[in-house]
Amino acid sequence: MQITEIYKSLQGESTYAGLPCVFVRLTGCNLRCSWCDSEYTFQGGRKMTAEEMRDEVKRLSPNGGLIEITGGEPMLQERELVPLMQQFLATGYRVLLETSGERPLERVPPEVIKIVDVKCPDSGAADTFHIENLEALTAQDEVKFVLSGRADYEFARDFTSRYRLAERVNAVIFSPAFRKDATGSRDSSHCLLDPQELAEWMLADDVPARLGLQLHKFIWDPAVKGV
Ligand code: SF4
Repeated sequence: MQITEIYKSLQGESTYAGLPCVFVRLTGCNLRCSWCDSEYTFQGGRKMTAEEMRDEVKRLSPNGGLIEITGGEPMLQERELVPLMQQFLATGYRVLLETSGERPLERVPPEVIKIVDVKCPDSGAADTFHIENLEALTAQDEVKFVLSGRADYEFARDFTSRYRLAERVNAVIFSPAFRKDATGSRDSSHCLLDPQELAEWMLADDVPARLGLQLHKFIWDPAVKGV
């Protein structure tokens, strides 16, 4: 498999935020979201066998715990990734899969907790959500909308209502996008959409979703990778 990095940090953007987690970041993505903070994953990386990856994860987290498979878009390497996730599950890890929602997800092992994006208009990747993925969602999964303005918010609000997302999954998350050149201060001034404004919209509309902030960008400099 082609891997950009494997590292240990705190999970940052789901209901698992704040927990120690080993991140397995796969190389390559077929989308180009305008606010993407992972462009360094589009190319490069190094080839690793499943055994090398299992060894590295075990070195970082020998006693089980949380693994997040992310990217890039990890499901581009589905053929090797599905058995790898099964092996992680079989050795006692809890596995999160962070995905853009553009790839079919029906072959993901059911024990894997899927954190699935639905891309909003300002991402530049609108209409890429694979709508059949709604049927692959389970009560342990999470759906995330990254928002950079009012049009994105209204899209997310209406999508959540139309497809009754709150009844399908564990959490629906509305998360302000960060400026991809953000650096220096660790505060919400880097958000493309002010979290306070988003909170007020969500409260006014009584949206069945939670506001999510990218925790790691408030702990470490937003420009730092591998955290
Ligand atoms: S899907 Fe993720 S990795 Fe790919 S361009 Fe969008 S934000 Fe970046």
